[in-house]
Amino acid sequence: MTGKQILIVEDEKPIRDMIAFGLRRAGYQVSEAEDCTAARAQIADNRPDLLLVDWMLPDMSGLELTRQLKRDKDTQEVPIIMLTARADESDKVTGLEGGADDYVTKPFSPRELLARINAVLRRTVPGGADEMVQVEGLVLDQASHRVLAGERAVALGPTEYRLLSFFMTHRERVYSRAQLLDRVWGGNVYVEERTVDVHIRRLRRALESFGYDRFVQTVRGAGYRFSSRPT
Ligand code: CA
Repeated sequence: MTGKQILIVEDEKPIRDMIAFGLRRAGYQVSEAEDCTAARAQIADNRPDLLLVDWMLPDMSGLELTRQLKRDKDTQEVPIIMLTARADESDKVTGLEGGADDYVTKPFSPRELLARINAVLRRTVPGGADEMVQVEGLVLDQASHRVLAGERAVALGPTEYRLLSFFMTHRERVYSRAQLLDRVWGGNVYVEERTVDVHIRRLRRALESFGYDRFVQTVRGAGYRFSSRPT
């Protein structure tokens, strides 16, 4: 029994029922919404631990819902897995750039979906260390799970937070995409290496207005490095 609450946003009832059945059996608490309006009402009422959002919904696309939730300070940390019939690689990147933490293409097996959910929830669990790390005014407060640039809070999604927190505690070393997947994503076999690039881009964008994006450096042919020294 995990007790974690998952909200399924999907207009097709048979699919919703199938997913809900599998999740309940795995010990999750499940709530359901058939469109984005219902989803927003439910989230405002009782914030779930994770959202499954179908791409095609009647009132608004699941992608737009994801964007809205990730822009909202109250919901930006809730992990989102997008469900879609689109197998197209560019759609997948669009989904991830829209703020989704992962992506599952229909038809999927209940086992695959469960593995993805478990992996996403595992990597959003607070890391335990209570340390404060500071690099030239960029502060990582692991106890409160906050990142500050001077006095101002840096808004980060859960994956970007994990990535930055890994980087800030492992500075001046180059990590390959595979190493980052292993250390930050927990070696989830379903996540592809290009996912790392998507989240690196998002992390840089979040740090950009504070001038800290320069810390997240690309090392050609090798991977990425966090360093306050010029490249
Ligand atoms: Ca649908």
